[in-house]
Order: sequence, then structure tokens, then C-alpha cells
Amino acid sequence: MSEQGKTGEIFRVAGPVVTVTGIEPRMFDVVFVGEEKLMGEVIQIIKEKSIIQVYEDTSGIRPGEPVTDTGEPLTAELGPGLLTSIYDGIQRPLEVLQEKMGDIIERGVNVPGLDHEKIWTFNPTANVGDKVSSNSIIGWVQESKNIKHYIMVPPGVSGTITDIKGGDFNIDEIIATLDSGDKLKMYHNWPVRNPRPIVEKLAPDIPLITGQRVLDTFFPIAKGGTAAIPGGFGTGKTVTEHQLAKWSDADMVVYVGCGERGNEMADVLKEFPELEDPQTGAPLMDRTILIANTSNMPVAAREASVYTGITMAEYYRDMGYDIALMADSTSRWAEAMREISSRLEEMPGEEGYPAYLSSKLSAFYERAGRVSGLNGKEGSVSVIGAVSPQGGDFSEPVTQATLRIVKVFWALDTKLRERRHFPAVNWLNSYSLYSQSLDPWFSENVDPDWSSKVKWAMGVLQKEAELQEIVQLVGADALPDDQRVLLEVARMLREYFLQQNAFHDVDTFCKPSRQENLINCIKKFNDDSMDLLSVGVPITKIMTMKSKDDLAKVKYEPEFDAELKKVMDCMMGECTDMRGDAEPSSKKEVSK
Ligand code: ADP
Repeated sequence: MSEQGKTGEIFRVAGPVVTVTGIEPRMFDVVFVGEEKLMGEVIQIIKEKSIIQVYEDTSGIRPGEPVTDTGEPLTAELGPGLLTSIYDGIQRPLEVLQEKMGDIIERGVNVPGLDHEKIWTFNPTANVGDKVSSNSIIGWVQESKNIKHYIMVPPGVSGTITDIKGGDFNIDEIIATLDSGDKLKMYHNWPVRNPRPIVEKLAPDIPLITGQRVLDTFFPIAKGGTAAIPGGFGTGKTVTEHQLAKWSDADMVVYVGCGERGNEMADVLKEFPELEDPQTGAPLMDRTILIANTSNMPVAAREASVYTGITMAEYYRDMGYDIALMADSTSRWAEAMREISSRLEEMPGEEGYPAYLSSKLSAFYERAGRVSGLNGKEGSVSVIGAVSPQGGDFSEPVTQATLRIVKVFWALDTKLRERRHFPAVNWLNSYSLYSQSLDPWFSENVDPDWSSKVKWAMGVLQKEAELQEIVQLVGADALPDDQRVLLEVARMLREYFLQQNAFHDVDTFCKPSRQENLINCIKKFNDDSMDLLSVGVPITKIMTMKSKDDLAKVKYEPEFDAELKKVMDCMMGECTDMRGDAEPSSKKEVSK
């Protein structure tokens, strides 16, 4: 057992790792280190020595300074006011930190994660006499314009309500009392390293619609699923994560900026609060929590930021919401593990990463899932982690470890980026292990033939890749006509379908029914062309079809459906004309 409040002293300081004697903590107890009371966490106990990773800069801290063990693990404050907040890695609101000390974050400043003075109107839904237990919903507050924040009984607490009252309260006031003596407030603390309890995980059979064609159609992620976006510098990881934050049909977004350069995070911090939620017109921040832990902040706090983020996501999941958590980038977290591990003089694994790299990553991704909760609600946390391998080399340990864990892999490709093909998702290396479990949803909600069309389109793209070598040797003109059609159809799929401009007002989001219609139209061109070839129409003529080129612009049209119909009608007309011009034997076939 740890002895709460016991004071020891610093024995040794090695960067973010501090060795302490004179305390008897438990693993992962929070301790305050040195005169300045820097926050840290116990990560190893060796006999009378405790090893602490410190979440703040340790320079100038000396042996002999005092250390206090709080006896408590690192927790997050969970209650109304999380949404719209911007936190550092240990849930300190950046705004409050800035007010307290200007632009340079001083050390040892302890501020609560939630505003304890703000007044919320509590609307009770439970009554005196109701039996409640872990996560039971007892009422709600309107947290932002479109989001109700359900107030839940903290996990582990149960009893019969003896008193409950509605009205205006701050989060420290008691809103309900149980016969067990427990007094409930609108918030509670939860240890961030522990997953919140659930009844069971549900099958991943509902997609998280992203509105990004290459993702939804070819490599879909399920609600509650896990995905990784690996890519070298500048391949579009951040743009993709922003697109998901803006457009995915999650109720809320938790964005963990973990160890990215300060200026990149500054872009997010500046851009996000200005963005509008396309679904409601309200500010996007109304349904967003940002956790900003930049590369100039101490590395140990990266780990805390990841756990804090996922704990908040699980909390809203327990209310029955669908959450998308983006972590940008998990490589920076892995680098922090490497640094701490080397300070601990542990036996290094591949490329200096600790042997437990993989198990830590998988414990994190395992907290994703669509679940049935203790209060009967269903909710989900989908986790999308960016991975930044040096030089875009996917064989490095973090990418490889991630690849073994996640079910969706959106591989960003430097060559595609050089060709300005965006999103630079390589359709040959990427995969989704959810495709099959999501097929019934797409068949029911988009098109009964969805999966066969997707297979057809992917088949064309794969054949194109196989033909590339021959084309480079002898040129496309030397190929048989049907293969030339295939190459043209593949080009159309790449340019008209796969490429999607995140910065274009219309193209930035494409709903699944439009994705399907676009594929249909490209497939129609393919089928018509094969048909025309079979009746003797020369390939050169087929390639000059106007409707084919008009199709290029449809994705940018606000009146997408009407424009697509026009192109389809035009294509039908052009085909009929070409058939008519073809030799008489073929005319017979047309009239059949
Ligand atoms: P990373 O985070 O991988 O370093 P970014 O996300 O910052 O890369 O992307 C680099 C650049 O690539 C962007 O500034 C933008 O010009 C371009 N880009 C990436 N994805 C898209 C997209 N879907 N549409 C248009 N441009 C894109």
C-alpha cells in the first residue's frame, strides 16, 4: 500500500526520469517532485527506490529536494465543460494556463481540468427511490447547442436515490444523494490508465462514414474500429485527420496532438476553433476536445495525453455517443517510450524501442470499440492514429507494430503525393479488415450490389498496376483494345473517383450514395465501351466520347446528382449514335 502524503527526496535526476527514495508508492501513483512540485507518475519500483517519469521540464531540479506521493493514480476530471476545451497532456486547460502565466508555461502549476465555478442547468431524469449503479443516467445538462451531456453515476457507486434536485449548479454542488451515503456531483474522476467498464463489445458492422471516397468505398472503418494512417512527411496525415474530424459522422471528436511540432499544433489550435460543423452549422469546437502536447513539451507527457484523450472519449461513449479519436502522431509517443526506456537502462528492442512498444500500443488501440454500456446505451470510440515513419519507410518498428494491431491501414504514399494525387492513399497497400462485416450495411443502405461494384473497381485498379510494366516497355497503343479500355477506366477511377480535394467546397465531402453513383457511371462507360468494341466501333472513337470527359467535373458540382444524370444521359446518346454508325451487322445486334 502506498502511504499517502508521505514525503521522500530526490536521489537522482536523468532528464524526465527521476529516482526517489523515502516514499512507498504504488505503481502509477502521481507524485509531486521537487520544490516546484512538478507532476510525475511512478513507473518503476526497485526496492526502496521509486522511479518517476515527470510530466514537466526537470532542468534545475536537484537531488535532496522533496517529493510527495499523492497515493492516487493519474486521473481525468470528467463532467460538463470538456467539449470545446483545449488541454495540455495532463488535462490542464491551455487557456487557464495562459491566463496564469502568459505564453511560457511555468512549472508546477496545478489547475483543474474543468471549470468548477461555471453554472450548468441540471435536468434530472431519475427520481427519488430509483435504484442506480455504475453509469446510470440520472439527468442531463445542455453542454453545447446540440449536445446533451448526460450525468452518470460514477462507476463503482450504487444505491437508491434518496434526494435529487434540478436547477442551476456548479460541478462541486451535490445534485443527488444515495442511501449508501454517496453524494453525487456533476463530475467524477477516473484513472486514465484504466479502461472504463462496459458490458460487452459489439460487432463492428456500422461504418464510420467519412465522406472521403477512397476510405468509405475501398477501405472503410467501422464505428468503434481502429485505423492507422502511416505516411512520410507531407503525405497528408494531418489533412486526412482534419477531414475525419470535420466530416466523419461521429458525434464528437477528441484530437490528441501528440509530440507534433509546435507550429503544426498551432495551426490546429487556430484552425479548429474557426471551423464550422458542416452537419449543424455550429462551431466545430462545440463537439471537439483538443489535447495539445507539442514536441517542445516534456516527452513523458505524451503518454499522459494519449491516455487522457481516450478516457474522455470513453466517458462520452458511455453516454451513448459515437466518438472519433485522432492521435497525431503515435510515432512521437513511441519515441517518448524509447527515451524513457533508455533512461531506465532497459534492454532495448528493435531500433532502440522498448520490447513493450507493441503491448503498449495494442493496449491503447484495444480501448476502441462499439460497446453496450452498463446503463444500456450503445456507443463507440473509433481510434485513428497517424504514424510518421522516417522517410516513409513502413518497415520501421512503430509502423510494423501498429500494422499488427489495427484493422484498417490507410497507407499514404510519397510517390502519389509527388504526382499531386490526393488523398495519397495507396490503393494497392492499404486494407480494411472491416469490409466484410460492413457489407450488409452498405447493401442495405446504399446499394444491394455495393460489394461487387467495389470488387470490380479494385480489380480494374489492380490489373492496371499489373499492366504498367508492359505499358512502360511497349507503350499503351500496343495493347489489345480491351486492355486499353481497362487502362482508361483505371485512369477515370483514379482521377475522377480516388482523387478528392480536401480544400474544394463541394469535393471535400462525398456521401456514400454519390460515391456509388460515380462508380456506376464509370462502370457504365466500361460496359458500354466493351459493348461498342464488340460491334466494331474503333477504340479511337470510343476514347473521344465527350461524356467521358464531362464526368471529370461532376465531383465539383454543387448539383452533383443532376449533373451526373446529364452525363449518364449524354453517354447513352453517344453510345447509341456510335452503334448506329457501326457496320450493318452490328446494327442488327442493337435492334435486338
Ligand atoms: P503530413 O501531416 O503528412 O506531414 P499534411 O497533412 O500537412 O502532411 O499534407 C501536406 C500537404 O498535402 C497539404 O498542405 C496539402 O497541400 C496536400 N494535401 C494532402 N491531402 C490533401 C487532400 N485530400 N486534398 C488536397 N490537398 C491535400
